[in-house]
Amino acid sequence: MSDIYEVNRETFDEVMLPNYAPLAEIPVRGDGSRVWDQHGREYIDFAGGIAVNCLGHCHPALNKALREQSERLWHVSNIWTNEPALRLAKKLVEATFADKVFFCNSGAEANEAALKLARRYAFEKFSADKDQIIAFKKSFHGRTFFTVTAGGQPAYSDGFGPKPSGIEHAEYNDLASLAALISDKTCAVILEPMLGEGGVLPAEKAFLEGVQALCKKHQALLIFDEVQTGFGRTGDLYMYQGLGVTPDILSTAKSLGGGFPIGAILTSDEVGKYLKFGSHGTTYGGNPLACAVAEAAFDIVNQADVLAGVKTRELEFRQALDEINQKHQVFSEIRGAGLLLGAVLKEKYQGQAREFVMAAGEQGLMCLVAGANVVRFAPSLIVESQDIAEGMKRFEKAVARVLAADKV
Ligand SMILES: *Cc1c(COP(=O)(O)O)cnc(C)c1O
Repeated sequence: MSDIYEVNRETFDEVMLPNYAPLAEIPVRGDGSRVWDQHGREYIDFAGGIAVNCLGHCHPALNKALREQSERLWHVSNIWTNEPALRLAKKLVEATFADKVFFCNSGAEANEAALKLARRYAFEKFSADKDQIIAFKKSFHGRTFFTVTAGGQPAYSDGFGPKPSGIEHAEYNDLASLAALISDKTCAVILEPMLGEGGVLPAEKAFLEGVQALCKKHQALLIFDEVQTGFGRTGDLYMYQGLGVTPDILSTAKSLGGGFPIGAILTSDEVGKYLKFGSHGTTYGGNPLACAVAEAAFDIVNQADVLAGVKTRELEFRQALDEINQKHQVFSEIRGAGLLLGAVLKEKYQGQAREFVMAAGEQGLMCLVAGANVVRFAPSLIVESQDIAEGMKRFEKAVARVLAADKV
């Protein structure tokens, strides 16, 4: 595609705000689990656009849905409803605990809606001072001011003036620390069933059961942020389904659109009825293009063999990582679930996750960090075995490079 402007990485510094620091290469094309940059260099993609591209790049069924919908109807706003949104909502309701769905455009917006709904529910059903929200340290819920304040990393919410109040933080996987904070003034507890950004750390089942029991005792809503764990990522459509702990509100985004921006909250009639007419909204949310793509993604992801395939691929990943570790002794643990896996660096390599990810890039492999000590893998849910094998070969070379550089 040629134009009057030749753009490259320097163009970013010229015209984009500096809140991101993108890598030197600019991807221009993707196909399945492979990506090519401006110079024709090929990468294997184990990052998935940060756990988003659940069916890889340019999946034919998603392309078809997008193309067909783009020739029919793009946008009408929520003054009218639309067929793709209604079909997608029906499918999500049928496949989960939920009776009702609200669509938006991102994970942060989904959590924003979840928290506002919880506040409104408590305000109308109980009293104006049942407004406390409890979240967890090291968690991540998005970057709007409400959700970033709920997230457990003050570095992300400091320096923007007065924060939304009424939010407190307990220790993840520590029921006693929640028990010390929760009371009848609590309207909601929000958590990720597995910390994503916070290090790919699964919640313990007993912890989740305890959280749910405390919520019930204090009539607080339990919100699961499944923006990263959801939509097939862990081998269940939503992670809660494999845990046996059902939330009152669930937020979903990332993989839901397979690369097209969409988010949603799922909830029961009993809770959802408090998001009354006019109480909340978004112009783009649930627009026909996004919903058509998400519906096509749903039709593929929510198949027993595709979900089972996530678990077999998990084993392939774990085995390859174990082999790398036997050779190089770099990881203390491989943790996570399904195709959201974290290789935790040993004490000796603490703080170096970014070095491993950069070295992987040089070998033609895209992967992610999750904090400073964990290398994160969030590939396509249908990544092919040969791509896993080739990607791991490249990752091993990257590991060897980092270790060699460490020695000099
Ligand atoms: C990515 C993420 C979000 C934020 O989603 P955006 O689409 O970036 O707003 C929220 N919660 C979790 C658990 C996430 O991983």
